[in-house]
Amino acid sequence: MSVTDHPASVVRRPPNAITLDASDLPPAGHFIDGAFREAPGAELLDIVNPASEEAIAKVALGKAADVDRAVAAAVEARESWARVVPKERSEVLHAIADRVAKNYDVLVRLESANTGKPLSVARDDVDGTIDTFRFMAGALRATTTMAAGDYAESHLSVILREPLGVVGVVTPWNYPLLMAAWKLAPILAAGNTTVIKPSEQTPLSTVKFAELVADLLPPGVLNVVTGLGPMVGSALAAHAKVDMIALTGSVGSGRAVARAAADTLKRVHLELGGKAPVVVFEDADLDLVATSLRTAGFYNSGQECGAACRVLVHESVADQLVERLVAQVRELAVGTPDAGDDIEVGPLVSKAHYDRVLGHLDRAFAEGARAAVGGGAIEGTGYFVQPTVLVDVPAGAACTREEIFGPVVTVETFSDENEAVQRANDVPLGLSASVWTNDARRSHDVAARLDAGTVWVNSHLVLANEVPWGGFKGSGYGRDLSVYALDDYSRTKHVMHYHGR
Ligand code: NAD
Repeated sequence: MSVTDHPASVVRRPPNAITLDASDLPPAGHFIDGAFREAPGAELLDIVNPASEEAIAKVALGKAADVDRAVAAAVEARESWARVVPKERSEVLHAIADRVAKNYDVLVRLESANTGKPLSVARDDVDGTIDTFRFMAGALRATTTMAAGDYAESHLSVILREPLGVVGVVTPWNYPLLMAAWKLAPILAAGNTTVIKPSEQTPLSTVKFAELVADLLPPGVLNVVTGLGPMVGSALAAHAKVDMIALTGSVGSGRAVARAAADTLKRVHLELGGKAPVVVFEDADLDLVATSLRTAGFYNSGQECGAACRVLVHESVADQLVERLVAQVRELAVGTPDAGDDIEVGPLVSKAHYDRVLGHLDRAFAEGARAAVGGGAIEGTGYFVQPTVLVDVPAGAACTREEIFGPVVTVETFSDENEAVQRANDVPLGLSASVWTNDARRSHDVAARLDAGTVWVNSHLVLANEVPWGGFKGSGYGRDLSVYALDDYSRTKHVMHYHGR
């Protein structure tokens, strides 16, 4: 394994696909009770394009009073929205999906400009948003509860599925619109009203979404308050009239939200960080592993909670795998989103995150790891980091245990199956994992032994709306996607009728 320089430079072509007009930007202010409300005297926050480092918009820094107004609107709307029959609620969700589809282009451009992500990734996000609303529109009509019956003499039991009431939502910056959709679609489908706080770094697509669907929902059903996590997010988590708080974000924010929610004993739903082990046995198809890692390790610049970031490979095939992986990574097209459809990797989302990822690399090198490819920043405008593969990583090194959340894949070796499983599980996070082998019995057994909410076999980072997504251990609890999300945002009530005569 030799150290090679990554030839990465940033592809920059004359801007074409991704210019934003003033009319593309959402209105300023919070979206409360069906309209955009100015926040008088509110401090404003610059929203920055991480590829150009230029400010592209401003949003209001919400205060507890804005949260109070939004929650009051959601409380006011909850009873009538809860009484809308499934067929009608389903039609609203389909109309939302149609509206997003009609505004596909502006949402792709906004998302790409705010996050720096390649257009292909932004398109995946908007496609996923549409499919999430369509799936939930169908699923909500098929939900049932257990059969009614007499379980005590002359008493008929009926089990009802009810909405929880008002659900507070806090979302991250890596897939701003898609993560909002993963929450909002099942929350609204289950008959709840909601207040969402997007990431302070990437609020534009969520606020635009509210503008686009404003006429499709009764006032107060969907509310958006922009601002900082420790102010707006924690006010939502602590609010006495919020019945559940759902967060996608880091482990630290998850802890803060759970603490803030504790006094009111509201339900908590947490989708937190990941550090996915990729367990490669000696009989795996190494070409398939390498080409899959090119996507699964570096998609969205590795800012992906399920990223294939921690390879554990059998020692007998480690050199062969690294050689193939390095060849794939060297070919990755790094560039600004406006450079075209061939771009695979964009900048990191912010200067602070760029510094954080580079700090992780410095620490990895200090601990003895070497870069087989990449290993540092890319010069010039924008928060670009070279796609990197770290080898010779000492056991227990921080880079194999902590979420780096950048374009960095580590490679460690193991000598037998038990060691592989033990080391794969020996991290505090348990969101996802993958197993690579052509031995069917081993694939079933190892998948069962891995402590992760999703385990792929001979694949990684493939998701579908029909199947649940969520973690174990420090990755949180609760499930996004699928009918399991509808369950999470509903409560069951037993009603018993005496009919003795
Ligand atoms: P973050 O935790 O910094 O921020 C997420 C959201 O939480 C933001 O809106 C932020 O304002 C808010 N927040 C911060 N402190 C808060 C507090 N004290 N109270 C309430 N809200 C608070 O995370 P991020 O950097 O935006 O996103 C990256 C993280 O999200 C990574 O750890 C990643 O793994 C995780 N993530 C997980 C999933 C998943 O499905 N499990 C999906 C995407 C991202």
